[in-house]
Amino acid sequence: MLSNLLISIIDNCSLFNQKCVVCNAIGFSNGICPPCLEDLPALLGPRCPRCAAPTPQSQQCRACGPGRGALDALHVSYEYCYPLAQIIHAYKYHKRIELAGVLGFVMRRKLGTIPPRFDIVIAVPLSNERLAERGFNQSELLREALLGPGRPPSSPSWCWRKCNTLSQATLGRDQGTRNVVDAFGVEHRCDGLCIAIVDDVFTTGSTLAELASALKKQGAKRVEAWVLCRAFSSVT
Ligand SMILES: [Zn+2]
Ligand SMILES: [Zn+2]
Repeated sequence: MLSNLLISIIDNCSLFNQKCVVCNAIGFSNGICPPCLEDLPALLGPRCPRCAAPTPQSQQCRACGPGRGALDALHVSYEYCYPLAQIIHAYKYHKRIELAGVLGFVMRRKLGTIPPRFDIVIAVPLSNERLAERGFNQSELLREALLGPGRPPSSPSWCWRKCNTLSQATLGRDQGTRNVVDAFGVEHRCDGLCIAIVDDVFTTGSTLAELASALKKQGAKRVEAWVLCRAFSSVT
């Protein structure tokens, strides 16, 4: 017989009572069981290093081409499809903030922590209006999961989103680009800095390109992005 104290410890210990977010199996400390973790939708085959579109020999795709876009590299964990698409949807739109833990875990496991050569690590900011509506910045919680040891827990607010742009998920690439032009302000000069940006979903890439461009106008030397999922169609 287990004592009441022991039962209470087990009931309240996240190590014992976390369910797998995909299959509901019980008892996995990171919120996902090993088989479901292995089945997550990896991006297979050679990819453009700046947008993760398939290319025959991992060269830049035509859309990224030489001299185009301010984002220097994209590090992406998985494809935006089942089950991550559903988990991300619940996280963002049903305010299931507790899912940040498992999403941060799968992202860090796939990509590792952000290397120390990056001077600052920022999340793509939300507008004040969107932040008030959602209650949290989904990318900020992922950013915290990717900070390596010795990184300060939070960085100063380097940039902000000027206006409440439409969701990129509903727009095509050209529309998406127009939607975010001049959408970001940068608080500080960034001369010579290497900057890592964290985001949840890469759809058209225009949000990250615009933020990277704003940072480079302030002097940033290099801007790379760490993204949880890459969507390959505009439908989410
Ligand atoms: Zn599972
Ligand atoms: Zn590309």
